[in-house]
Amino acid sequence: AVPLVVARSTALSAKNGLLIKNRTAFENARKITMLVFDKTGTLTVGKFEVGRFGALQKEFTDNDVLQLAAALEQGSEHPIATGIIQKVKELNIKPVQAENIQALTGKGISGNVNQKKVQVVSPGYAKEKLGNALSGIDIKPGETLVYVLVNDKPAGFIALADQIRPESYDAIKTLHQHNIKTTLLTGDNAIVAESVSKELGIDHYIAEVLPHQKLEKIRELQQQGEYVAMTGDGVNDAPALAQADIGIAVGSGSDVAAETSGIILVNSNPQDIVNLILFGKATYRKMV
Ligand code: ADP
Ligand code: MG
Repeated sequence: AVPLVVARSTALSAKNGLLIKNRTAFENARKITMLVFDKTGTLTVGKFEVGRFGALQKEFTDNDVLQLAAALEQGSEHPIATGIIQKVKELNIKPVQAENIQALTGKGISGNVNQKKVQVVSPGYAKEKLGNALSGIDIKPGETLVYVLVNDKPAGFIALADQIRPESYDAIKTLHQHNIKTTLLTGDNAIVAESVSKELGIDHYIAEVLPHQKLEKIRELQQQGEYVAMTGDGVNDAPALAQADIGIAVGSGSDVAAETSGIILVNSNPQDIVNLILFGKATYRKMV
């Protein structure tokens, strides 16, 4: 039988922004020594807005760069895609069609526009592919930068920014007060990862992590003796969520992430995780 106190706690948690799919996850929440956060949509609001953007070749205007990117991003649900599409609408830039749109998971997106190969990619991937042919744009703190490549040459760049969720500050502080370490694990660039970590007081950040590396990073932390909870939303987070001692799927994310997690964070609010951990500690203290 389910002990009454546990049944009650689970029901209470649902009201408090969490769905506990697997009761062991709730029971084990009190053992967590490290919380690994993804960035977008949990610590931040998850709404990217386009800031500066521009062409890197005479052949293209600044607006061409947005237009080409938007053609591909129509096929994506990534928050970066949503931000780019929004900007194109605001500026009344005419939509163009793309073909063969393919996600480059954790790196960007590619497709064909007017017989040209177009890609919208992360700085890390652009550097790896183009080497010295990329005259890089300096990334400012807080900026998520993507390059638009046309036929494997840099055509332009788009900088986007997200906002830190106001609840994140207290959530991190409370975790530290309870001796739970914090790590930011993101596919985004190191400059934005550093600025978010600094702003929130997060202990460590690991940036430009490709999807398959997320799982390895979780395993490394476990080998160092940490009892790891991880938040994630994307399909590409699923293996790492499954590897974590406790996987926490962020509500608005993919079904695959939810399937592999023991806990679902309905309102994407990091403070709800903190409450869960404290609640778990209090509940099981009562029982023993
Ligand atoms: P996170 O770990 O923050 O969820 P992702 O793995 O989703 O990040 O993406 C990592 C990086 O890959 C992004 O910061 C971006 O540079 C690039 N990227 C991924 N998907 C897209 C897309 N649809 N359009 C443009 N860039 C993308
Ligand atoms: Mg993600």
